[in-house]
Amino acid sequence: MNKLGVHALVWVGGWSHEECEIAISKSAKLGYDYIEIPALDPSSVDTKYTLKQLEKYKIGATVSLGLPIHSDISSEDPNIVSKGEAMLNEALQLSSEIGATHMCGILYSGFTKYMKPKTEKGMQNAAEVLYRIGEKAKEHNIQIGLEVVNRYETNLLNTGSEGVAMLNRIGSSNVNVHLDSYHMHIEESGLGNAIRDCGPNLGYFHVGESHRGYLGSGNIDFKEVFRALAEIKYSGPITFESFSSAVVSPELSNILGIWRNLWEDSEDLARHAKAFMEVNIKSANETFRDKEDK
Ligand code: MN
Repeated sequence: MNKLGVHALVWVGGWSHEECEIAISKSAKLGYDYIEIPALDPSSVDTKYTLKQLEKYKIGATVSLGLPIHSDISSEDPNIVSKGEAMLNEALQLSSEIGATHMCGILYSGFTKYMKPKTEKGMQNAAEVLYRIGEKAKEHNIQIGLEVVNRYETNLLNTGSEGVAMLNRIGSSNVNVHLDSYHMHIEESGLGNAIRDCGPNLGYFHVGESHRGYLGSGNIDFKEVFRALAEIKYSGPITFESFSSAVVSPELSNILGIWRNLWEDSEDLARHAKAFMEVNIKSANETFRDKEDK
């Protein structure tokens, strides 16, 4: 029921033509339905070439990014906010050109460790921009996901319920919450509770371990995660996200603090993750079928 995807950083650190074909062909070979392509620098993605590879290997795509601090739409400075809106529009254009179904990530603030709290005015600025982006994305059949991340990567949305409150403020039916088990493990009072807090507002999901390595080798209770996803009948995309210093993106790896080598064999990692997600989805669905029968 859920489409399964893999983050491009499992394969490659950049998006040259060669890296693009490697990442797309390897994701397709393992049977993933789509690849999530980071667009922190939208100008680095050759959309025509990317679309050609997606069509050649017959898989879909989603796009993710976080805003740089000089383009932070949750700023109180209107010039910075308009730079951020321009960047989101550029990323939306890129998403549309490669036929992406979703654009997600830290679209609502800078992707950085803030040294001060969010402000009411900044939240309102972000909400107004995201309403326009959400409505524009609807015309391209692209859903927008606001990724709730930990306190070291944003000051705006750290929990699922903050995400839902933000959606209410934005007021576009095309903007959803995007949760990530790695971030939830740091910030939420319960993994299942966070998913239930979002319920039908959940539109995108990242599966990541507590140390960002092999699924099942860290501290996250994935049984609880997948049971809660089954309980709310989540039918959206699920992307495996993992990072190791074996594959380096200077932009992304440095902000995320990827200093350790948690794996070297991308293919073994991605094959294992797909099997892990499939087994957990199946087990969770069986749990709920059992409950519904009684
Ligand atoms: Mn994530």
